[in-house]
Amino acid sequence: MAKKLYPVCARCTKVVCFPMLKANEEPPIDEAPAFCPMKLMPEVIAKAIAEYDKPEVREFARLASVQEFECYEHLPEGRRTKIPRVEELIQFAHKCDYKRLGVAFCTGLANEARILNDILENKGFEVVSVRCKVGATPKERIGIREEEKIRGPGWLETMCNPIVQAEVLNQSNVDLAIMLGLCIGHDTLFIQYCRVPMTVLAVKDRVFGHNPLAALYLADSPYYGRLMTKTK
Ligand code: SF4
Repeated sequence: MAKKLYPVCARCTKVVCFPMLKANEEPPIDEAPAFCPMKLMPEVIAKAIAEYDKPEVREFARLASVQEFECYEHLPEGRRTKIPRVEELIQFAHKCDYKRLGVAFCTGLANEARILNDILENKGFEVVSVRCKVGATPKERIGIREEEKIRGPGWLETMCNPIVQAEVLNQSNVDLAIMLGLCIGHDTLFIQYCRVPMTVLAVKDRVFGHNPLAALYLADSPYYGRLMTKTK
């Protein structure tokens, strides 16, 4: 039986969606691999692109691309990156004329949250922030057993509460919610329940200083080669 094709951009060597052509030339879509989403689901792509016909979506996308452009400088010796993500966040929020920002942070990054709060306030924003432990709800509420507590059996351990974090920011009418270091899964719930525009400043990586890509960069090394071994 023939294997069903599905999009696998990560394995594409043609990348005809990003060709080095002049502005009046057409990308050679025919040359794309069979697993290319442009070949497999053209109707889906056309419908999604039509979303940019909505003026507010088009404007938001335009501002995001202008921001992207401004993250580089073009020097005689070539293109160079110029600002870190936190400054990109500040510039973009100003571009969107956002006044009130909301930070949903992990208690493990409380220090970083305070610094971010200061930075954003110093740049003229009103900053609402909410810690993952908000609600002070014991982990027993979601069925965590004594032996599954990080502090150990017998301790009160309050749960990370991304749904409450999202609702607090929704109700606070923030213009933009910013995730700071939420755990995997907790971030998924936060995204699911957050009803305001949302972005991520940092994701949690307890080992690599919140830089999960470090593990990928080491995946070919003796230290993290286990990442590439096949699971049976
Ligand atoms: S969209 Fe098509 S051409 Fe572009 S990376 Fe994916 S598979 Fe390759």
